[in-house]
Amino acid sequence: MRLGLGFDIHRLVPGRPFILGGVTFDHPRGPSGHSDGDVLLHALVDALLGAAALGDIGDHFPDTDPKWKGTAGSVFVIETLALLAKRKLFPVQVDSTVFLEVPKLGKKKRELAEALASLLDISPDRTSVKAKTMEGLGAIGAGEAVAAQVLVVVEERIAKGGTTKRRAK
Ligand code: MG
Repeated sequence: MRLGLGFDIHRLVPGRPFILGGVTFDHPRGPSGHSDGDVLLHALVDALLGAAALGDIGDHFPDTDPKWKGTAGSVFVIETLALLAKRKLFPVQVDSTVFLEVPKLGKKKRELAEALASLLDISPDRTSVKAKTMEGLGAIGAGEAVAAQVLVVVEERIAKGGTTKRRAK
């Protein structure tokens, strides 16, 4: 078993869609960035890479490369899962916290956790998304930024005369 930790923060600016965990929210501001600025999925990528000791998101998907411009966070996650799978590493659990003032996540937290479960092909009772405001403090508290922290548990699956394939959906 391995653990990985990830963090990401993006500035919130007018005229960009607010995308978090691959879900679009109705909000007048959205994360700026070279890609879609999805802090939850970017932090997840860093957590996955960390668990495998494979560097960080900037090493694999540099924002200087036009190839990744506007790329959805889910694409980074899928590419990262493939890197881990080559090493027989598979995520089995995710916990996360999103730091933001607005919009309120409320019931969306469960939807986001289920979206993570689907993306990682694990059971939704093994994914968690929590939300924290910053009590009005700092850039996040002023609604000028959104951040996320992710912890992932990754399992190494050694083939025992069988397959290391992930279970079918
Ligand atoms: Mg990012």
